[in-house]
Amino acid sequence: MKKIGFIGLGIMGKPMAKNLLKAGYPMVAYDVRPEPLAEVVSAGAAAGHSARDVASRSEVIITMLPDSPDVEAAALGSGGIIEGANPGSILVDMSSIAPRVSREISARLAGKGVAMLDAPVSGGEPKAIEGTLAIMVGGPQEAFDQVKDLLGVMGASVLRVGEIGSGNTAKLANQIIVALNIAAVSEALVLATKAGVNPEAVFQAIRGGLAGSTVLEAKVPMMLAGNFKPGFRIELHIKDLVNALKTATELDVPIPLAGRVLEIMQALREEGRARDDHSGIVQFYEKLAKVEVRR
Ligand code: NAD
Repeated sequence: MKKIGFIGLGIMGKPMAKNLLKAGYPMVAYDVRPEPLAEVVSAGAAAGHSARDVASRSEVIITMLPDSPDVEAAALGSGGIIEGANPGSILVDMSSIAPRVSREISARLAGKGVAMLDAPVSGGEPKAIEGTLAIMVGGPQEAFDQVKDLLGVMGASVLRVGEIGSGNTAKLANQIIVALNIAAVSEALVLATKAGVNPEAVFQAIRGGLAGSTVLEAKVPMMLAGNFKPGFRIELHIKDLVNALKTATELDVPIPLAGRVLEIMQALREEGRARDDHSGIVQFYEKLAKVEVRR
């Protein structure tokens, strides 16, 4: 079994690392925060001291960090992966970042004989815990073949979609669909509530029809309970939509609806709700309509 270095033990990375440990993979782990590192070490990992240290002690390095600058710093910065990685090792970046940045980091690592895959995930914390994420991968087929089995420990579906950057392009598509879907659900349930119809009854009535979706099933119960504990934070979804808009600008592609939902999320951030789950988008509509979608 390949020796894994795992960097970034947050909401997603911690359960993903634990699943790899459970499957028997030897691991060196690292996070800038000591608490999750101690937890993963008590689950069987060795403690790494920096990204460089982790890279020097592993064959496959996995990163699960918030955004493009974090991955750039961990991969290419001082004390970073590039300084420690052994030729022939593979970086699998599972963070959701800008596709252009994946391509740039990959080109720099290639000079050290290190291959890179961008392999962002969908499914959120519950599927990270279950090991049933959807993993979308970009990068060389040969590197993909070497890590497909270990990615299968974390995901129910592991698909290579193309060359480096394609995984994150697929993820941007995913994030546009999820954001617009949550906004549509919010808009619809606030309207129903204001009209005097029980939103839970509306949910039950429509979930088996064409409006049914994974978003509806995962997020409506949170809205009905007024529980916006993340899950997936609004600030991270803002990051994804900004990356989508930057990519769309580079390609001259209009994505007007993503822009509108980004503005809704930015308004919520101004109200101090950046760390709420993205189901908290409903609060934007609730405030304007002066109703709450609750059971
Ligand atoms: P998180 O903020 O909970 O975790 C990030 C972790 O990285 C933190 O523990 C942080 O301390 C650590 N970190 C930051 N910089 C570091 C560095 N330089 N070196 C070492 N550790 C560092 O975020 P998350 O929710 O786990 O998300 C991680 C990525 O996965 C993001 O790109 C996010 O968009 C994506 N994602 C999240 C979800 C979700 O539901 N939370 C779902 C799918 C994809």
